Amino acid sequence: MSQPENELDPATVTVWGGEDRYLLDRATQVPVVHSVAFGYEDVEEWQAVALGTEDGHIYGRNTNPTVAVFEEKVRLLEGAEAATSASTGMAAISNALHTFLAPGKRVVSVKDTYGGTSEIFTRFLPTYDVDVALVDTTDFEGIEAAVGAGCDVLYLETPTNPTLKLLDLERLSAAGHRAGAIVMVDNTFATPINQSPLALGADLALHSATKFLGGHADALGGVVAGRADLVGEIFKYREINGATLHPMAAYLLIRGMKTLHLRIERQSANAAAVAEYLEAHPAVTGVNYPGLTSHPQHELATRQMRGFGGMLSFSVDGGLDAVKRFLPKLELAHRAANLGSVETTVGPPATTSHVEVSESGRAALGIPEGLVRYSAGIEHIDDLITDLDRALAVL
Ligand SMILES: *Cc1c(COP(=O)(O)O)cnc(C)c1O
Repeated sequence: MSQPENELDPATVTVWGGEDRYLLDRATQVPVVHSVAFGYEDVEEWQAVALGTEDGHIYGRNTNPTVAVFEEKVRLLEGAEAATSASTGMAAISNALHTFLAPGKRVVSVKDTYGGTSEIFTRFLPTYDVDVALVDTTDFEGIEAAVGAGCDVLYLETPTNPTLKLLDLERLSAAGHRAGAIVMVDNTFATPINQSPLALGADLALHSATKFLGGHADALGGVVAGRADLVGEIFKYREINGATLHPMAAYLLIRGMKTLHLRIERQSANAAAVAEYLEAHPAVTGVNYPGLTSHPQHELATRQMRGFGGMLSFSVDGGLDAVKRFLPKLELAHRAANLGSVETTVGPPATTSHVEVSESGRAALGIPEGLVRYSAGIEHIDDLITDLDRALAVL
């Protein structure tokens, strides 16, 4: 791309962003570079690249051209100074946390983070004598108070998985910075199409690229974008700890991201229509979707997000037993522990977002067992509603 990056719409960046540097022999598509190492005839040049004073690649655990294109595309979409990747979303999240947390440090977060992230906070970080404070997700004053009592890392996620609660990124980022904390935001649910955490004040935006960024449920990946100094530190941690994104996965993520804007538009519209349909259904007792005017934080969603996203969750009359009866009746949905794909995907938290957490742990986190998480795909909305209508009829 020869134009200045800030002149291009995200819809254009998803298609073109970050690709030109590595196009090979007039190819129009990015190559999958499987080579583990990169050879140099000139030892001085080799040394310059190793020291980072010249651009280039040395060894595949550290950097790779295909992986670099994926990182550059996300960097442009998040409006970040830098981006670095990891083998999975959890690798990106755990590497980011471990880079900046050590014995005696303190992290503040919320109770509703993704199940795996929540396990890092409750099971692993305390064994390293990291002080972990997890506050009720909707208690912004409580979060500010916990941050005010000392904070090295403020870790946020919005909307949350699976109850779709929102955090006020502008307000909480400001509180984090007053305390001198690094502010991280898991932007997986919203995607850079619907929400820009860095523009709202955060230092780092993190993704499970496995979900919406890739969008086709065929590649695992993670990415962190934000302040160059912080991303550089996370890269140094990741290259040594070794959770590197595979070049083939990077290619699949790049290919998926070319349609990110189209998919998010359609998935957001489908989720909104499904949420409205469910809200009016007699067997449904509650629907969580930030785009509904009944959502307690709808006003915040309107301020902070450009679209309300493809994710929702709902409860049915009769709890988990009722879920077990109607879920198998859906024909146009994978019952699987994934989200953000082109196919509609559903499941209860016990087998999806919070599979790593025990039943009592889920209860303590306020995750109802009878909830259904619904990730809207890109199918025609009429077919999705007909399918739900048929399945819910068994209740
Ligand atoms: C899936 C998910 C993760 C973890 O990503 P993996 O790629 O499965 O490691 C983190 N955060 C959120 C919000 C997720 O949905």
